[in-house]
Amino acid sequence: MRIILLGPPGSGKGTQSSFISEYYKISHLSTGDILRSEVNKGSDLGISAKKYMEVGDLIPDELMIKAINNKILNLSTGFLLDGFPRTLNQAQSLDTLLINKNKPIDKVVCLKVNKDEIISRLLSRAICNSCGNNYNLLSSPPKQKGKCDSCGGDIITRSDDNKEAISNRLQIYEEMTSPVINYYDSGKRCFFVTASDEPQNVFETIRKLLDK
Ligand code: ADP
Ligand code: ZN
Repeated sequence: MRIILLGPPGSGKGTQSSFISEYYKISHLSTGDILRSEVNKGSDLGISAKKYMEVGDLIPDELMIKAINNKILNLSTGFLLDGFPRTLNQAQSLDTLLINKNKPIDKVVCLKVNKDEIISRLLSRAICNSCGNNYNLLSSPPKQKGKCDSCGGDIITRSDDNKEAISNRLQIYEEMTSPVINYYDSGKRCFFVTASDEPQNVFETIRKLLDK
């Protein structure tokens, strides 16, 4: 199975991606996680990406496409893309890459959450510095303060989870990623899921869609 998970920042893509990739035994590729790890390593890609990420801007298509193409091609399993594609250009380049390999995307799932909820989720969000696990410091904090439940890594707040960067990320989602949704929707590949419910219930809805 080859799927794409779309949705605004804070819609729960990370959480749902973990559920989906575990359940269907497919690889989870998160461009946000990949880029954050490059930033931590201080690689050339990380150094170039950092200034865009901090303010919530997209990194340039050319850089992003180059960084992800080989990872996709090297996979021997099905996959779930989380955070990619985010521009029409990225979506078209992905289709070309996959159609040439005879491995088209099966389904695109698009998460929907209202703006107020997104902002409140992001302002109380924290992540594990090592494994990327998501926490909500108000509703689902880690059992031991500051430590990840699954790997013991340090829990940090993302540098782009502040008011200014959040507002920029939401605006960019509207401007740059809405055309991606229209692109897949016009090809009848897009399925919309309301994601303001409990994560487990959202996953149940997604599972039914994917099993169809
Ligand atoms: P969000 O919580 O905003 O959905 P992600 O963790 O998916 O964030 O991505 C964090 C940042 O990484 C983005 O704000 C952007 O700077 C960069 N990034 C991730 N994916 C892409 C992409 N497909 N194209 C360009 N930039 C990206
Ligand atoms: Zn962890």
